[in-house]
Amino acid sequence: MAAASQSPLPAMAHMRILIIEDERDLTETLTYNLQREGYETLVAHDGQEGLRKAQTLLPDLILLDLMLPTMNGQEVCRELRAGERTRDIPIIILSAKAEETDQIVGFSIGADDYVTKPFSVKVLLQRIKALQRRQGGGKDPVDIIEYRGVKIDRVRHRAFAQGKELDLTPTEFRLLECMLKQPGRAFTRHQLMDAGIGEGAIVLERTIDVHIKTLRRKLGDIDLIETVRGVGYRFREEGGNRDSEN
Ligand code: CA
Repeated sequence: MAAASQSPLPAMAHMRILIIEDERDLTETLTYNLQREGYETLVAHDGQEGLRKAQTLLPDLILLDLMLPTMNGQEVCRELRAGERTRDIPIIILSAKAEETDQIVGFSIGADDYVTKPFSVKVLLQRIKALQRRQGGGKDPVDIIEYRGVKIDRVRHRAFAQGKELDLTPTEFRLLECMLKQPGRAFTRHQLMDAGIGEGAIVLERTIDVHIKTLRRKLGDIDLIETVRGVGYRFREEGGNRDSEN
């Protein structure tokens, strides 16, 4: 596979790409090359895991293989397109099948582009950039997330509560981002570990509790992050009652 160019991409620096692909050599190559281009990457090795990560972490773009264990790429694509929060995420299908009918299937299930294996990383990067341009590129409104007086700026990596800047660690920032993107949604400690600490990190679930505790203190309002008994945590929705379990 050809090495990618080293052109810097400041406007897209914090774009997060989810790779749903069961061939580990390919996920490793893609991860290496995409990170070198300044993208953040997430990986899932089967369809169900990929769908769950897409719904939980809301990536900016998805690379989706068709032939996958547990749930095939067509089903994953349909589920993503049916979901209110995932329907607008751009999807590029990666497939070993070169027949024209498969491309038509790819587009008919709602994919935005289609790349046939084997492909060069350079070609894939061009397709990703072309898709970003079609989607509006740098003026991505998702760069700023604001809810209930808490604001985060993903590009500048800064967070604010009631107008005051917060001094967050990278893990706290990611945890806040994950929950703030989907207020009211309950996340398990395991999902928060994926989002906040990184995939495959060997940490105790209690570690998340410690991070949440300091995050609540820094937010200055411990009720904003709600404990969901038996599950984990969520960012409290507007109108949600405050007889909390915190
Ligand atoms: Ca496959």
